[in-house]
Amino acid sequence: HDQTHQRTAPVLSHISAAQMKHLLDTTDVRETAALFAYADAVSAAYFDNRIFFRGIVEFSNVCQKNCGYCGIRRATKLHRYTMPKHEILDCARFCMERGYGTIMLQSGELNTPQRIDWLVDLIGEIKQTTKQMDTKHPEAPKGLCVALSVGELDELDYRRLFEAGASRYLLRIETSNPTLYAQLHPPDHLWQRRVECLRALKRVGFQLGTGVMIGLPGQTTDDLVSDLHFFRDIDADMIGMGPYVYQEGTPVGDAHKKLRERAGQTEQDKMEQNARMVDLTTRMYALARLFLGAVNIPATTALQALDPVGRETALQRGANILMPIVTPTQFRKEYQLYEDKPCIDEGAAECSACLAGRVKWAGKELALGEWGDPPHFHQAS
Ligand code: SAM
Ligand code: SF4
Repeated sequence: HDQTHQRTAPVLSHISAAQMKHLLDTTDVRETAALFAYADAVSAAYFDNRIFFRGIVEFSNVCQKNCGYCGIRRATKLHRYTMPKHEILDCARFCMERGYGTIMLQSGELNTPQRIDWLVDLIGEIKQTTKQMDTKHPEAPKGLCVALSVGELDELDYRRLFEAGASRYLLRIETSNPTLYAQLHPPDHLWQRRVECLRALKRVGFQLGTGVMIGLPGQTTDDLVSDLHFFRDIDADMIGMGPYVYQEGTPVGDAHKKLRERAGQTEQDKMEQNARMVDLTTRMYALARLFLGAVNIPATTALQALDPVGRETALQRGANILMPIVTPTQFRKEYQLYEDKPCIDEGAAECSACLAGRVKWAGKELALGEWGDPPHFHQAS
């Protein structure tokens, strides 16, 4: 849909695992600055310093799974909501009016025939409603691009959602290390099943998003290097990576907390730890940009939980996407995946204005009214 997929940039697809590991670990300030600058140059070559938006609607916190780190896991005592369709359609209109180009529908996992039917109808209505809307951006594709992040489903269901009009799907592998995955999830959550879902999504024709959490308890630098290879091998078009953030009341969070208490962690230690996490996460963005080239890389919301300007920093180190939260304010408190999740008290309009300011601050430009397909997807097809 845009010219960017014709471009080439000096990607480093031949970079070795040892070099990646070195760049993740190095304390050499000049080497680190060079890594970030190179990643920014590759992003600029592909995207002209433009930042694309996806409005994210966290439409339901109902979840049948029990991932060990997540604040909305089934075992959490929480008021469970599913937004009514008409409110989600209001969010879609809002995204269209703001020129966001894409709506990302995210929820807990609920793999029932009723939920799939409901989603199929919803996607159709979003496409129909937004296609009829005028846009200030005459060259924009008609209607919103619909992206989904609703977990592990059967291939036939993925196909129905694709045929209903959804174009993109985000399913993080969480970690490419199956042993670590097993430590963070109950025994019936299978790493292999997640890989099979990713393959099914690709077969169906979705633009494929995957990713990992960074800084998971027990994760090593070697794991992160393997993550980058996993993204290449699965042929991902979008890489959604964010720091793991502690959430009270979860098994992984509570075990982690005990260790920190035993070590006598102070507020100062916590701040330093947060800064290290932002640094490590953005090194992963930079390496993903260098290694994988023209994929989309969102500056994830979780970064801002650790650093007020974490997302802007990411935009200067390889990220090219921002995902303003469009979820109505009354639901945000009930979609708290982790501690200090930002923008809990804001509304969609405030988020929009705030993020536009942040893009300018980072020295980038807003790309409004475009879907912002990852050039990688078109190169591959
Ligand atoms: N339920 C779907 C799934 O799991 O794929 C989509 C929604 S889920 C809330 C989206 C992502 O939130 C997960 O893939 C996970 O990486 C992230 N997440 C959950 N708990 C987190 C935490 N404590 N810190 C950082 N990210 C977290
Ligand atoms: Fe549910 Fe997704 Fe949270 Fe796992 S990460 S508990 S599937 S919402």
